[in-house]
Order: sequence, then C-alpha cells, then structure tokens
Amino acid sequence: MDYTSTRGAAPATSLDAALIAGLAPDGGLYVPARLPEFQSSDFRGCQTLPQVASHLLQPFFQGSRLRGELADIAAEALELPIELRPLQEGLGVMELFHGPTAAFKDFAARFLATCMARLQPTAAPPTTVLVATSGDTGAAVAAAFHRRAGFRVVILYPDGRVSPRQAHHLGAFADNVRAVAVRGNFDDCQALVKQAFADQALRQQVPLASANSISLGRLLPQISYYAWMALQLQRQGDAAPHLIIPSGNLGNALAAILARRMGLPIARVSLATNANPTLHDFFSGQPYNGRPSIATLANAMDVGAPSNFERLLHFQQAHVLREEIECVRVNDAQIRDSIASTWQRWGYASCPHTACALAAAEQLQQHPPARWVVATAHPAKFPEVVEPILGQPVAAPPALETWLRKPSHSEVMDNDYGMLCQTLRQGIE
Ligand SMILES: *Cc1c(COP(=O)(O)O)cnc(C)c1O
Repeated sequence: MDYTSTRGAAPATSLDAALIAGLAPDGGLYVPARLPEFQSSDFRGCQTLPQVASHLLQPFFQGSRLRGELADIAAEALELPIELRPLQEGLGVMELFHGPTAAFKDFAARFLATCMARLQPTAAPPTTVLVATSGDTGAAVAAAFHRRAGFRVVILYPDGRVSPRQAHHLGAFADNVRAVAVRGNFDDCQALVKQAFADQALRQQVPLASANSISLGRLLPQISYYAWMALQLQRQGDAAPHLIIPSGNLGNALAAILARRMGLPIARVSLATNANPTLHDFFSGQPYNGRPSIATLANAMDVGAPSNFERLLHFQQAHVLREEIECVRVNDAQIRDSIASTWQRWGYASCPHTACALAAAEQLQQHPPARWVVATAHPAKFPEVVEPILGQPVAAPPALETWLRKPSHSEVMDNDYGMLCQTLRQGIE
C-alpha cells in the first residue's frame, strides 16, 4: 500500500516511512492510496480485538517491513478490554477506557509505540518522542514508551491548565519520561513542538519522533476497535450501531467513519463536540474556519482547528459529509446536566467528554438504529468536575491508582524555544 499526502505535493511513500515521518514533507497528512473493502464474513474466526485488527489492517501493511509481525503487534498492543454497556433500549455506551491510562488513547499510543520500536534501528542516541498535551495524550504516549529501550519521551503541557490529577500523572512516570510544565497555554506548547520538528540542526543532534493525533500509527488501530464492536453486535443479532463520538482533533471519529466506508456494519456516525464551534459550524453548512481553542470542562477536546479535518475532507466531499454526519455542540452547562442526568437515570458516572456524547445522544433520537455513545475516558480522571455533581467520590481504576500513588516530578519551563532546545539536548551529548 502506498501512502500519499492530503496536499498532493509530496512523493508517495511506504507505511514505515509515513509512520516515522508523522507529517508529509508538503505539510499535508498521510493517507492510504486506497481504502480496502470488507464484508462481515471476511472476519469469520476473528473473535478478539487483536484478531480483528490483524485481519483488517493487513492491506495497510502491504509493503511494510512489519507485515509479517502484524499479528504479534496487535496482540502486544491491543489486548485491552472494551465494555459494551447497554443503558436502556436503543442506547448503550462503548467503553474504551480500560487501558493503562484510562483513556481511549491507550490503544493508539501502544500500537504506534510497538510499531516504532520494531522499526527503530538500535543505534544511539535514543529517539526522543516529543509531544504537547492538554491532557490525555501525554499520559498515553508516556505509558506506551515508558522503559522502552531506544526511546525517551518529553511531554510539554501548559502549567496550571491541566487538572492536578493529570499533572501528577504526567510527572509520575520518571525513568525515560520527562514532564515539562510550560509557562503558557496549550497552543504555546504546540508551537514549541512544531518549531522543534522544523529545526533540522536540532534534529541532526536529537532524533525526534512525533506521536500526535495526525500519526497514521494512531489512526489505523482506532479503526479496528470500531470494526470489532460492529461485528460483535452483528453476531449477537443486534442492530448496526449509530456511533456518537466525543471529538476534538477528529482522530477517533475519523476512524469510525473509515470503518463504515470499509464496509463494516455501522449505521451512522455522529460527532459530539464541546463549545468549540469549528466542527459544528462546518457541519451546519458554513465554510471551514479553524480558530484558536476555547477552554471547556471537556479539556481533551479543546480544539479550534481539528488536525484530522484535512484527512476527513480527503476521503469525502464536504456536501456528502454534511449529508451523512451530524455534529452536536455541547456547552459546559449541558456537560454538567448530562453528567447529572446520566447518573440519576442509570447510576452511570461519565467523564466530561463522554458527557458531551451522552447529551448529543439525547438530541439524536430521531435516528432509529441503536445509539452507542463512545466513552473516551474514565470519570475518575476528572474528579474536580465529576465528583461535585455526583455528590460522591469516583474510585480510580487500579492502573490509574498505581500512578497516582507514586511521587511526581515536573520541570517548569518558560515559553521559550531556546530553553526547549536545551532541555532536549540534555542527556544526548
Ligand atoms: C483526545 C480525547 C478526545 C478527542 O479525541 P479526538 O481523536 O482528538 O477527536 C475525547 N475524549 C477524551 C477523553 C480524549 O482524551
């Protein structure tokens, strides 16, 4: 399989090169040259997520050095539980937060890390995985590369703008992971990362790799859990799902949209966003207008210019997207109401991101197929928001609890590119 750039001005390349490069040289995003098509019967004998993933992803790994290792990679990275929890007739929750950092990003980060470790030449110096995070990405990427030989992780996050629990978590990994609190906002962190990736002199000394949400190595495994879920429902004799997905950079929802286009039995995909209006405006017919993000209770979705939008548009024309997909925008008051009413009606505690999709599900009842809300993080990751609404504590899952009990250390850094270079060069020379 060849991979081309959404902007069409970069040469086609292999999966392996695209995985390592992250962004295409023309500034576009890598996309597969074609989408393979499947029928449910192709997956006969595939029961577990790793089994479905290794069958589904095979065409994408044509020509990759990792082709023969795909089944092992899927087994190593994707053996995480997914719970399908019905709430009432026609409405259920697909929980993707049972991995080591209690958010769906574990699936993708572990798959990417496993692929990169197998592609990595063993020579020193180590590859530095540099990420900017407003929350869950940093922890998932840190956990996926933690103690992996040949890699270190540097996480930049906005000082004082992630929750205390998130900050503790980011600083608790130690070993080959450094957490850096930048005196600035998330956009500043992202700008620093971009500048580092564009700095060829720095990259000569400090080999850098990216693990952000545009990485193909994150998109591909996400397609597989939607395939697994749709096949599972079909085998149980249930209706094809209408997936409602909390969205920010659009990586998770794009994976569902692609699974549907590839022939998996998915009836419909809808998006739920927080108050950031970009996606909602586009899907209600306005021209796309990326803008700075605004802060909300669902902070992992505080995105004003969704990085996967360009990829979405590559696969489908705007007018078709608008016909097929609805986007519901949910403000902070509605997030609070949704957490409260979900708790009152079903005794179900939801994180602020999942709450956006639960609120959207209320508004999308006109579509008859079974609505499945995608639960992207465990509510215990956001106790400041969730616990006062429920009026009781939410116990953290054991994997998260282990990290929260460890000591935590972050470095504080000015929003200054020279300082970042110094930080990145430390331990390399
Ligand atoms: C990252 C994240 C999202 C948004 O996912 P995208 O792929 O960026 O759209 C939603 N919820 C949680 C908990 C997240 O961490």
